[in-house]
Amino acid sequence: MSTLIPTVTHAIELTNRLSELCDKATHDELRMIMGELKFQLAELRMGLSESFQETEMLKLRLARLEEQAGQICPRCSENSYRLESSERDKIFSEIGGCLRTFRCGSCGFSEQAVHIPGLG
Ligand SMILES: [Zn+2]
Repeated sequence: MSTLIPTVTHAIELTNRLSELCDKATHDELRMIMGELKFQLAELRMGLSESFQETEMLKLRLARLEEQAGQICPRCSENSYRLESSERDKIFSEIGGCLRTFRCGSCGFSEQAVHIPGLG
C-alpha cells in the first residue's frame, strides 16, 4: 500500500503542472475540473497515508498476539508450546522451586523443567 503514495504524489504533481497550463488558458470548465481533480487526489493521498499507518499498527498488534499464543515447540517448531502445569517440589516446597510441565498443542511433545523463583 505504501507503494501507492509515491504514485499518487506524482499524479498530484502532474495535475499541478496541468493546472499551471490551464491558468494560461481561458477555459473555465477545464480549470474547475482540474481543481476538483487536485482536491480528490489530495483526499486520496490522506486516505492512503492513514490506511498505511493503520496497517502498520495492526501488524504490530498481530505480532504481539502471535507472541502471546505460545512458544516455539522444540520438536515441530509450531507456536503452540505452552505451560501445562506447575507444581511445588514435594520435599523442599518453596526452596525446591516448581516442576513445570510444558506441552505442545500441535504434536503433543512434553517436557518438564525445574523453575526456581528469582533464577529465571
Ligand atoms: Zn510440537
